[in-house]
Amino acid sequence: MINLKLVTFIIGVSLFILLNLAAFVSLLEKEKRASIRFFLISWPGLIIFLLPGFTNTEISNYISLALIVISAFVVIIFVIPLNGEIDNASDTPLIKHDERDTMFSRNELIPDTEKFNSYYNNKPQQKLLDDKFRVKPGLLSSKSANYDPVLFASAEASFYTVSAYRNFIDGEINNTKTYVDTISITGYIKNWSKKLGAVDVGVTELKPYHLYSVKGRREKYGKEIINYHKYAIALTVEMDKFNIDAAPNAPTVFESAQQYLSAGTIAVQIAKFIRELGYPAKAHIDGNYEVVCPLVARDAGLGEIGRMGLLMVPKLGPRVRIAVITTDLPLVISKRKADKTVAHFCEICKKCAANCPSKAISFDKKEKIDGIYRWKINAESCFTYWCSVGTDCGKCIKACPYAHPNNLMHNLVRKGIKNNFLFRYLALYSDDFFYGKKPPKGNIPKWMQVTYNEKQAK
Ligand code: SF4
Ligand code: SF4
Repeated sequence: MINLKLVTFIIGVSLFILLNLAAFVSLLEKEKRASIRFFLISWPGLIIFLLPGFTNTEISNYISLALIVISAFVVIIFVIPLNGEIDNASDTPLIKHDERDTMFSRNELIPDTEKFNSYYNNKPQQKLLDDKFRVKPGLLSSKSANYDPVLFASAEASFYTVSAYRNFIDGEINNTKTYVDTISITGYIKNWSKKLGAVDVGVTELKPYHLYSVKGRREKYGKEIINYHKYAIALTVEMDKFNIDAAPNAPTVFESAQQYLSAGTIAVQIAKFIRELGYPAKAHIDGNYEVVCPLVARDAGLGEIGRMGLLMVPKLGPRVRIAVITTDLPLVISKRKADKTVAHFCEICKKCAANCPSKAISFDKKEKIDGIYRWKINAESCFTYWCSVGTDCGKCIKACPYAHPNNLMHNLVRKGIKNNFLFRYLALYSDDFFYGKKPPKGNIPKWMQVTYNEKQAK
């Protein structure tokens, strides 16, 4: 005969230890609210589970049984794979996008120039929307709400450096070709990129829909994009959690600019390496894209595209930046295993939408856009907010339950989310309870708090 009280006692003590471990990990992650809550609920939890052991009534056996059943239910929904309602519709875009329609391209148009007039004569509906961001101080402006002269100068320095790479994204190809084994060179590039700082690297065939139709930035503005490369290598780099937690303050733009640079550096170096081997290769980095990076990265098996329109990778969620290299060097394709559970979690979650200060993210179901069902963010309202605060905001990234650090505690939750649809609801409820439906404003890391004379700074 099973001793129900003993089983309840073991579960209670194990739960108590786990909750206190979670409290400690949260403390290290500077998640004060989560740490306090894990600690506080560990005590009543322990008392409830120990209670049947101190009483000797028939009721105490029923209580033990109920507690065991509840605990078993949680374990079962974590372990048993059960997908629930999964949307298996195609997510392959049917058309190419024109880079001139991106906010960065529109932001670079100078009023009363030929380019400006030509763009808005063709798209007068955009003019009214864009007039709204043009009256705002602008990204990294000293007049913006979240201006920080030191961190904005750091972000400028990162953007400046990555923009200097534009002369090195492509170049001469070595006349002497080195014939390399496809499998080993693919492994070599992946491992070397990781040594250089990439968290993940994948390869896909370059498809027409990966490419923008027309260039929207810099010298080649308005030129048709022609790229016949066969392969695309996508790589991701991590954005620091503490800096993103300060969203929408200056550390976010510091971090994203820094990681555009890190991803760009790796891509430029790898592209040059491939050209040295005697094969064409081009890096696609901040300000110099011919490809839509999240689509390439998704098809290269690095992640899925979520409600907020960003690539969501398995262990960091949207907390990454991407760079791409297109090439003819024969490579092994990384088979994409589409993870439709991300879309289902996004369907029920909506935390990014609830935390977006510009209401740019939809609360609705996916809609049919250009032939496929997807979520589309209101890029104009997002960018207008950026131009008010001076940073690239990032509140959606910060709020995302997938964006927690890459460690055992959060990876177990991610595993449960992937495994079972009921666990997704439990994970979402827990994320709201421990981290807040609207996570509190993060602090600017101490080392970034450089004192300055405000009068001079403005
Ligand atoms: S916050 Fe939620 S809805 Fe938004 S992208 Fe992350 S998981 Fe999806
Ligand atoms: S970056 Fe900010 S404004 Fe833009 S979608 Fe995310 S939360 Fe909204």
